[in-house]
Amino acid sequence: MKILVINSGSSSIKFALYLMPTRDLLASGLVERIGENEGALHFKYDDNKIDIIRRVLNHKDGLEAISEFLLNDQYGIVASEEEIQAVGHRVVHGGEKFHDTVVVDDAVKDTVRELSNLAPLHNPPNLLGIEESEKVFKHAIQVAVFDTAFHQTLPMNAYREPLPPEFYERYGIRKYGFHGTSHSYVAKRAADYLNKDLKECNFITLHLGNGCSATAIKNGRSVDTSLGMTTIGGLMMGTRIGDIDPGVVLHLVEDIGMGTSEVKKLLGKNSGLKGVAGDNDMRELSIRYEQGDESARLAIELYTYRIKKFIGAYMAVVGSPLDAVIFTAGVGENSPLIRRMVCSNLEPLGIQFNYEANESLRSSQEVNELSTTDSLVKVLTVPTNEELEIANESFRMLQHQEAL
Ligand code: AMP
Repeated sequence: MKILVINSGSSSIKFALYLMPTRDLLASGLVERIGENEGALHFKYDDNKIDIIRRVLNHKDGLEAISEFLLNDQYGIVASEEEIQAVGHRVVHGGEKFHDTVVVDDAVKDTVRELSNLAPLHNPPNLLGIEESEKVFKHAIQVAVFDTAFHQTLPMNAYREPLPPEFYERYGIRKYGFHGTSHSYVAKRAADYLNKDLKECNFITLHLGNGCSATAIKNGRSVDTSLGMTTIGGLMMGTRIGDIDPGVVLHLVEDIGMGTSEVKKLLGKNSGLKGVAGDNDMRELSIRYEQGDESARLAIELYTYRIKKFIGAYMAVVGSPLDAVIFTAGVGENSPLIRRMVCSNLEPLGIQFNYEANESLRSSQEVNELSTTDSLVKVLTVPTNEELEIANESFRMLQHQEAL
């Protein structure tokens, strides 16, 4: 059986097709610049790449192009549409309504629509992807996998803000957390690697990509996470600020005279690594750091110091011996410099970092161990794969339906 994974954004649709249960990636690609005069389609299967420049009118047109590519006899990827039994959709915000993956029905779509006020940039295009996919892939069940679902296990003391209750009750102001699909996937892989039941595992997972978040995992469940109600808090990120004294925001508006859209742009797009050093590409910053560039040094020191603080805090939150600190995503999987700076001087916390293993690690699809054999807490790199996790979840939903 084949499962299609869709990540539908405002002007692009990413997709991946998996053969299940073997989890082989059969094809993948991206439709971009939807609605613009010159759209682009990028398809990959086996070792072949196809790039087409043409206007893509809307999301339906984009999904039809994906369907035509997958069903094209010339490529032999899918023989008939019925083979695609499920389409798994990434949905960013599931609010408090969705604790788990769900099969989409009208009520699910209504709720995703209602939650658009919490994720105005993400939920509407995610929903559009679902609605158009229902028309294009008629034979498949549609499945919604939420970035927030994994963090619905947070206890109240972790998710509530110290505000008068009506701000939670009327406006839904609380911590929701994001990147849940990634944190959950790497935790499962690490548990497999350690040969332990996930329910017995305690981890701190560090998703360090363009967006960054740390999660405290106790007995396999998320008990705290660094992103909150929106995607700009917590760790310092590529262009986003992370945690800051809220008084600074008031100061920017009241005393410096910035408008709300200016402040929004500053905190979301012009802060973080880019704000401090003018670049959010960690590869470039690392080169500049090694060359002694002062602003790159400051940016990387701020970035790694904050990650260290979360490791200390989350060890206290978990409160039981930790099995591993896990690095994942673009920076976490690939940057020896960042891992070294984060893990140095953590011996008092039981972390003995293996500097040699760290420096010699090259890009890998495997789980890798970067702690010494006598370290109480392991340090692991686990490559994330959010698309595969969505396919796994969709497969689980299909099996569940068949069992009914
Ligand atoms: P992601 O959002 O997971 O795709 O991660 C994107 C980030 O990973 C960017 O900041 C990249 O510069 C960074 N990245 C990718 N490869 C490397 C590498 N080899 N060394 C350092 N950073 C990297």
